[in-house]
Amino acid sequence: MPTCAICDDTGWKTIEVDGVERVTRCECVVQKAATQRLNDARIPPRYQRCTLDSFITYPNEKLIRAVETARRFVEAFPVVDRGLMLIGPPGIGKTHIAVSVLQQVIRRTGAHGLYYDTRTLLREIRSTYNPVLHQAEMDVIRPVMEAELLVLDDIGAERLTDWVEETMSSIVNTRYNERRPTIFTSNYEDIPDEGEMNSLLVRVGFRLHSRLREMCEFLEYDGPDFRDLPPNAGAEDLLGLWKTQPRRKLPVKSQGQARAQLRAPKHADKVDLKWSGGRAGS
Ligand SMILES: [Zn+2]
Repeated sequence: MPTCAICDDTGWKTIEVDGVERVTRCECVVQKAATQRLNDARIPPRYQRCTLDSFITYPNEKLIRAVETARRFVEAFPVVDRGLMLIGPPGIGKTHIAVSVLQQVIRRTGAHGLYYDTRTLLREIRSTYNPVLHQAEMDVIRPVMEAELLVLDDIGAERLTDWVEETMSSIVNTRYNERRPTIFTSNYEDIPDEGEMNSLLVRVGFRLHSRLREMCEFLEYDGPDFRDLPPNAGAEDLLGLWKTQPRRKLPVKSQGQARAQLRAPKHADKVDLKWSGGRAGS
């Protein structure tokens, strides 16, 4: 018994175009490819069922704008000029939005998509380090550079060292030059203050920050932590909690310390690994 009634599992079907019979790929082939690509996208199990429709919104203007922009991105892909940068405190569903876009794009277009938590990515690159052969590192880095759509979750969480800065710049700049969109999430607010330790600018460094501004639409919002809510919470619960929960206050940090870190001379930090895979964006 063939599993596809349309093409008898040949993968091809006949359609009529202007009265002429033509042979074209059957949807089952496209579906199969999309399913395979979804399996290869490294989406964490807890996010595998996420869609933008399952994301609960409530009257929070910036949140609604973020979700609407995400929807437009899915519809427009691959014709998109810029990626997305979702910024806000932990637990407000940034990863849900990012992964939903990734899954919906793969389902709709069959594109090569990839998800990585930034720290996991850096750990995998480090663990494959070999002073002589760069093949293993490139086996990790190449798919990240070449994915048609990449989600890099929680950027800025890793302590900034020369190696981290160089590795991230290489990946991000390659994607920028090849015009491949990336969706980032970050817990660090985009405050134009180089003295603020917990700003995106300080967490990722000047060069990467200005590149991110160029290549992404920034969508910053706040909201209640989903983890404080009962599992069946709805829009009303979210709105109520959002209104009563104190807004995130940035901790007061020693400004001198942040400046010192940003302006530290190169190689002041112990660099545990050199990656000679490219020095883009310097
Ligand atoms: Zn078929």
